[in-house]
Amino acid sequence: MSMKLIQKKGPRGALKRWLAEEEEAAVRNVFGRKQVRSAQERALAEHVILEMRKSELWLQCSCVGGDSPALNSANLKSETQTLYLSGFSHSHDPSCPMFRVFKGDEGATRAGTRKSAGSKRLNYRDFLPADESDATIKAPGKPVNTGEDRTRRKRRPRLARLLMTLIEDAGLNTFSPISPLPNQTARTWLDALAASAGAQEFIRDRVLSEIVRFQPAMNEAAQVRLMLELELEHPDANWPAGKARVFYQIFMSDQVSREHVTFSWNGGERQFFPERGVSINGESQEGVRPPYWVILAFRRGTEGGVICSEGYAHALFRRTCPVPVDSMLERQTLEGIAEVARWLKGRAGDLTLVKPLFDIEVDVEGEKGFVLPDFIIQAKMPDGREHTVVIETMGYIDDEYCERKSEQHKGMRALGSLQTDPPRWPQELDKPFKNHLYGFMLNLGTAKNG
Ligand SMILES: [Zn+2]
Repeated sequence: MSMKLIQKKGPRGALKRWLAEEEEAAVRNVFGRKQVRSAQERALAEHVILEMRKSELWLQCSCVGGDSPALNSANLKSETQTLYLSGFSHSHDPSCPMFRVFKGDEGATRAGTRKSAGSKRLNYRDFLPADESDATIKAPGKPVNTGEDRTRRKRRPRLARLLMTLIEDAGLNTFSPISPLPNQTARTWLDALAASAGAQEFIRDRVLSEIVRFQPAMNEAAQVRLMLELELEHPDANWPAGKARVFYQIFMSDQVSREHVTFSWNGGERQFFPERGVSINGESQEGVRPPYWVILAFRRGTEGGVICSEGYAHALFRRTCPVPVDSMLERQTLEGIAEVARWLKGRAGDLTLVKPLFDIEVDVEGEKGFVLPDFIIQAKMPDGREHTVVIETMGYIDDEYCERKSEQHKGMRALGSLQTDPPRWPQELDKPFKNHLYGFMLNLGTAKNG
C-alpha cells in the first residue's frame, strides 16, 4: 500500500486511513491513467474523491520520498460542478500513474514556478508615469484595482516598486547578525533611505532625492514651491521626455485605509486622501496590520493646486526594524527566526537574514521560472562553507491558499533547503517552528563532523 488519506486540519497531516489495494488501483486507473476498466472501479474511485471532499482530506502518494510527499486535493470545477483530483506542491514521480505536468495556471511553469516576475525592481531612470496633464479625469476616491493572483503575488504597482527598490538599495531588508534584531529609531531608517535616494539619479545630473522626499508634513505652500521647481526651474532637457512632473513622500504610518493615510508626529497629524485611493499590499480592505510603509505621489491637479494622486502601503515588521512583511504571520516567523539565532549563539556560523522583495530566477528541471520566498537565511561557517535556508510561512487558515503557495516549493528548493513555518508542512508536528529550525541550523553547523 502506498496511498493514504490525510487530514487537512485537526490535526493537519494526521493519517485518516490507508487506501485498500483495490481502491488504490481504482484511483490510479480512473484519475491517473484515465482508464475505467469497470463500473465497480469507477464507483471505488468516486467514493475516495467524495470522501476527500466531504471530510477535507488530501491524498498522499509515496512515489516521492522525504519530507515533501506528492499530494492531491479534491477540487471542484466550478463551471461543470465536477470533482477532480488536483495535484499541487510537489508533483508525483514521473513514473507514477498520477504524475501530471504541473498546470496551476497559464502563468506557471511545469515545476510550479512563475513564468514571469510579478515583482521586479524598477529603473530609477525610467519609472515616472507618462504625462497625462491634458487627459486628466477626476475620479475621487476610486481605489486602485490591483487584480488577482493565485498566490497573492499581484503585479506590484509602480509606486510599490519604487518604494521596494529604495528599501532594497538602502539595505533595509537585509541584516546581519539576526540576533539581536536591528533596533534603530524610525528616523535612522528614513535617513538611510534618503541617503540612498541622494546617491541615485533619475536623469543625468538630477538626484532622485529631488523628487523622492521624506517630509510628509510639508505644508501646501511648500508643496507648490516644490512643484514649481520641478516645472519651471529646469528646462525640459533635464526632465525625462513625456513624463509627468511628480514628487513622492515616504513615511511610516499606523493609520491606513483604502481612502486615506494619516501621518502623525509629536503634537500633530496630517491626513492625505489620494485621488486614486491607497492600495495596500495583500489587503483588499482596511489597513488592519499597522505599522506600514507609505509612499504617496503628488502632482498638479486639474484645478491648479498640488494634489495627492495615489498611495501605496506595505506592512512593516516594526518601526525600529522596518523590514516589509506580507502578513501578521510573517511577523511571527521573523520573531521566531531571531529567537533561533539567539539560541544558536553563532553555532551555525554568521547568519544573514534577507527578506526578498523581488522575484528570484531559478532553474528547475531545465526550465527557468521565478519564485518569491518569504525569508532567506544565509549561514556562513568559520571554515567558509555556506548554506542557504529558505523559510516559508504556511500557517494560513485558508487551505487552498497554502496549496497554491506550496506550488512554488519545488522552485524554492533550487535556492536552498526549504523550511516551513509550521515545520514540515503539510504535516502537523508537535514541535514548534522555532525548535525545529534550531535543530536544523545546529545540524548545519556541526555537519562537517558527521
Ligand atoms: Zn505518486
